[in-house]
Amino acid sequence: MDRREVAAVLAYIGRLDPRTARTGTDEARAQIAQWHELLHDVPFTTDHGWDVREAIRAHVLDSPYPILPVDVARKWRAYRRDRLDRHTDPTPAADPDNPAAWRTELLGTRHAVATGMAAPSTHRQLTGGPHRDIDARLAAVGSSIPPAVRAALAPYRPARAAREAAVAAGRPDALSVPCRWCHADKGEPCRSRRLGLDGHARGNAPRTRPHPTRVDLAVAKLARQEAA
Ligand SMILES: [Zn+2]
Repeated sequence: MDRREVAAVLAYIGRLDPRTARTGTDEARAQIAQWHELLHDVPFTTDHGWDVREAIRAHVLDSPYPILPVDVARKWRAYRRDRLDRHTDPTPAADPDNPAAWRTELLGTRHAVATGMAAPSTHRQLTGGPHRDIDARLAAVGSSIPPAVRAALAPYRPARAAREAAVAAGRPDALSVPCRWCHADKGEPCRSRRLGLDGHARGNAPRTRPHPTRVDLAVAKLARQEAA
């Protein structure tokens, strides 16, 4: 607060508690100088909830003693402490490889919160949106199998590879429905049953390509989803 604001504060106090009012000009000037000396770094108001008149009103209501500058300073310190307690440092936008810039931004944000220039950031949050290379990182780690390894494995897991290729190309994923032909469950590849000469199943080998009826079923399901 500058001297003009301190004078306004003292006038306000004088209205609420006439005991503190100074009548003589010299006395009033000395009082303003004293209060200014003690409260020059306390703001009059901030955009985030501090108003020195609020603190004065609370003191007058709570205490039988005339308000002193230290009462105001104490309330301001409590206000700062409360805000910092609620503040969780948001991740600075500065390059983490530049510790000086990182630290400067972190301290700057804290100072702004403490002095009431900014609202506390109460939750850990991504204030700057996802990190710049987040898409690339997600593409790499979104699956437990990195893309390069996945490609290398494709020949050994043909059903799975066909399924992934279908999804990637926006074609219906046949394995998202059970097969009515071979009774393969959802997610399971179709199986070819080879019948022996006696009519009993001889083999039960997984097929790379799902049975056509299953593909039709998946197409119908996708069409229903798109229509919905
Ligand atoms: Zn099948």
